[in-house]
Amino acid sequence: MSFRLRQPAVAAPGDRSFWLQDVAAQAVTESLQGEVRADVAIVGGGFTGLWTALRLRDLAPEMRVVILEADLCGSGASGRNGGQVHSWFAELDQISAVVGAAEARQLCADTVDAIGELQQFQQQGMIDMDLRLDGWLWTASSKAQEGAWSRAVAMTEAAGAERFRQLTAEEIEQRTGSSASYAGIVEPHAGTVHPAKLAIGLRDLAIARGVVIHERSPVIDIVPGRICTLRTVRGTARAEKVVLAANAWLSALPELRRHLYVVASQVIATAEAPDLLDRIGWRDGASICDSQAHVLYYQRTPRGRVVFGRGSGNVAFRGDFGASFNRSPQHGRDNVRELHRVYPSLREVKIAYDWAGPIDCTPQHVPVFDHLQGHPNIVFGMGFNGTGIAQTPVAGRILASLVLERKDRWSASGLVGIGRRGKLPPEPFRYLGARLVRAAIRRRNDLEIRNETPGAVTRWLSELKPGGPAE
Ligand SMILES: Cc1cc2nc3c(=O)[nH]c(=O)nc-3n(C[C@H](O)[C@H](O)[C@H](O)COP(=O)(O)OP(=O)(O)OC[C@H]3O[C@@H](n4cnc5c(N)ncnc54)[C@H](O)[C@@H]3O)c2cc1C
Repeated sequence: MSFRLRQPAVAAPGDRSFWLQDVAAQAVTESLQGEVRADVAIVGGGFTGLWTALRLRDLAPEMRVVILEADLCGSGASGRNGGQVHSWFAELDQISAVVGAAEARQLCADTVDAIGELQQFQQQGMIDMDLRLDGWLWTASSKAQEGAWSRAVAMTEAAGAERFRQLTAEEIEQRTGSSASYAGIVEPHAGTVHPAKLAIGLRDLAIARGVVIHERSPVIDIVPGRICTLRTVRGTARAEKVVLAANAWLSALPELRRHLYVVASQVIATAEAPDLLDRIGWRDGASICDSQAHVLYYQRTPRGRVVFGRGSGNVAFRGDFGASFNRSPQHGRDNVRELHRVYPSLREVKIAYDWAGPIDCTPQHVPVFDHLQGHPNIVFGMGFNGTGIAQTPVAGRILASLVLERKDRWSASGLVGIGRRGKLPPEPFRYLGARLVRAAIRRRNDLEIRNETPGAVTRWLSELKPGGPAE
């Protein structure tokens, strides 16, 4: 028997994210040829795979760790995202529902520490990632969105953590240069990052710390056993332990697909317009989002571009997706319309880039870790649900502990254990249902943003969405 994986559709050069094009990201390591032997083989060179490799080398410096990456490190969600860095406290309610209040509080605090770790990397000159901790603004731009944060804020306060501060309409307008959002909160110790710089910096750090990386080496299948065999087109890796860190592409495995659905999120980046942004008062590196179900998320880059994303893309049938999840002109146009609604003064500014990426969603909107059924030496982590920059450093700790079979709080985490998690309906019901629900969410968003009330059917359908608010 073997586990067959899917090959990611490598994006055309012009469909790569602004971030990857900005740093002219390229593979720097050899693709796998012949046979390589390791203690641990990691499939996927995004944040999850790279953090896991780094944690493993910290805990067991003698361990031979190899990463097999289909394209180049950071070419998946890690190098395509919105660059919003914030802790898990915004999702305290959803995490508590899975792991209980006490552990959820601890995991949220771990993501705060992860932000501190990123800050240290930058301050010590280890990774230049344009990290700007100017805050994360969670806002409302219509009546229906007001107070979307209330539950998370109340639970955070009840847990004795001080993370959020309420913002007035004037403060929001002063900070964002837009009057579209008029209520909200800020998480001050949060902000933005250049995600491709972070991914490539982590790759370089991993190489410097002795991790062997093979880019342009898609794993075709894995033959399990005491020693697992991972086959690529021209080579083979053999290892006692395997970590599946292939994010949305893990939907290739039927046992994981039951708990994972994949949707596209779409991002655009404008040409540089620093003077205009200065004029409207948008000067700092805060990350901003609204509270629509198909959330808008945006930032001003240090050189004065606007990076503007929206989680309104397609859902993948059987979790299988191709080039339309690298770029979709139709959803790009949707983002441009929303950008101009929020920032009418940007109408004359050219849209220089548009791209998309896959989001790995679980029904509870909380990640899950475990090993494949009957194969304790093949572990996986997935389900970041569109929030991974400060969360994958924690995932790396959990996966490293599972690999090393350590008995600690990471391996004992309530996030470990797929058996306890809800399953999604089988195909084709899941796909057809998801299309109906997503269309209803789109209709509802479009009406509510104008403070109009959707009909009962639209409301009912849109509330069938699994998990919590935004993706
Ligand atoms: C458009 C978008 C916007 C987002 N915005 C934010 C944000 O603002 N803030 C935030 O915190 N999070 C955001 N996220 C989520 C965040 O980017 C992810 O949670 C995080 O990058 C997940 O990291 P990963 O390593 O698990 O996945 P990935 O970065 O996707 O890495 C998986 C890797 O596996 C590789 N792979 C797949 N199949 C194979 C195979 N068969 N063999 C070898 N390699 C394989 C892929 O090429 C890929 O590089 C966003 C995501 C997207 C898509």
